[in-house]
Amino acid sequence: MAGEPQDDCLFCKIVAGGIPATIVRETETTLAFRDINPQAPTHVLVIPKAHYENAAALAAGAPQIAADVLAETRAVAEGEGLESYRTVFNTGAGAGQTVWHAHAHVLGGRGLEWPPG
Ligand code: C5P
Repeated sequence: MAGEPQDDCLFCKIVAGGIPATIVRETETTLAFRDINPQAPTHVLVIPKAHYENAAALAAGAPQIAADVLAETRAVAEGEGLESYRTVFNTGAGAGQTVWHAHAHVLGGRGLEWPPG
């Protein structure tokens, strides 16, 4: 069922505390932790605690939580002292999604080129 924890989901395991992560922020509905393979000096993932397979499913199924995730990306950037940063939702394998639990990447602390690869 949409939003329910999935046994085989890495990020659901992080939410449950079964896999360690470096937590940056937590709210009732979201968790922010440092990416294990950082692509910039700041690289934090903001996820909904509820399981939705990507940003599209989250926006359709739980728009208020999608708004919470977006608000938390701003809070992470502020906490990291970032004036410029990039928020990325990879949605679908063709866009580079590898973990099937919605997450926003917050990247900053270096110059970021456009367009992305
Ligand atoms: O957008 P995408 O699905 O590719 O992003 C998944 C991200 O999750 C990657 O940046 C990867 O480094 C990160 N990750 C993590 N901790 C894990 C497994 C993956 O931070 N245990």
